Amino acid sequence: MPRTLVTGGAGFLGSHLCEYFLDKGHEVVCMDNLITGSKDNISAIKSDKFQFIEHNVSEYIELEGELDYILHFASPASPIDYLELPIQTLKVGALGTHNALGLAKAKNAVLLLASTSEVYGDPLVHPQPEDYWGNVNPIGPRGVYDEAKRFAEAITMAYHRTHGINTKIIRIFNTYGPRMRVNDGRAIPNFLKQALTGKDISVYGEGSQTRSFCYVSDLVEGIYRLLLSDQNYPINIGNPSEMTIKEMADKILQATNSTSKITYVPLPEDDPKVRQPDITRAKKHLNWEPKVKLDEGLKSTLKYFQKQLKT
Ligand code: UDP
Repeated sequence: MPRTLVTGGAGFLGSHLCEYFLDKGHEVVCMDNLITGSKDNISAIKSDKFQFIEHNVSEYIELEGELDYILHFASPASPIDYLELPIQTLKVGALGTHNALGLAKAKNAVLLLASTSEVYGDPLVHPQPEDYWGNVNPIGPRGVYDEAKRFAEAITMAYHRTHGINTKIIRIFNTYGPRMRVNDGRAIPNFLKQALTGKDISVYGEGSQTRSFCYVSDLVEGIYRLLLSDQNYPINIGNPSEMTIKEMADKILQATNSTSKITYVPLPEDDPKVRQPDITRAKKHLNWEPKVKLDEGLKSTLKYFQKQLKT
């Protein structure tokens, strides 16, 4: 039975990964310091093949026994989190990734790094292919996340080239689904919470900036395929169906039957104007493309939010 460590395993994506890998017959170790993750996300897991360890992976990682795979997902991931936790965000991208790679080396495990579309910054190439180097402001408020992940990619490739570690890098584009926190601060959770509680929908700027939203189950499938592939270079995983943020706000008003109004507030600094993954590589090398339609994905996310907010 393969044994897999999920760092950030009590977070939104991490908890879905823990469940998915248990279903695939893996023994799963979930490691999280719970600064943005929550035990609630993993409380339904009853398997005796599952273990939770509370630990900050920016500190040396000690783990007994053999290990086959490391899914390195620990990091604050919402702009409001990395604005509030800038140093932790930098440390987990840099020191946390170094520790995870050291563990991969010691255990001869395959390591998959959760990277991000943020490595492309405010992109000047659209849609974004993996060979685009990006347009990042290193000293802006988002720089702590973007540069941490860029460093994480660099050290991952260095361990691959220098130590021959079998590493994978996924660049994750905007993803949504159940277990995003009600107070997560990202667009879909904010809009759902606001629509369900009769508050104004806070569209930043004019809402003309675009994003492309992928449902969590599609993302998890892409991660699994990448992990088992022979690909060591970064691969974008995301849904190429692009929309403006204003369109997303309207969609959520419609899906929730809400009478909330849209209010326009100033655009945060360095907010990318456009974002859409070029998924040619994922299609070609992983035979992967997203399947879940936005309406369908929003429906199950809405259900989760209704339960959380008891509306
Ligand atoms: N956004 C918004 N209202 C919100 C939260 C976010 O208009 O309440 C915008 C944000 O400015 C960005 C887009 O929605 O242009 C997506 O933001 P999110 O925080 O979800 O993730 P990002 O893609 O910026 O990392």
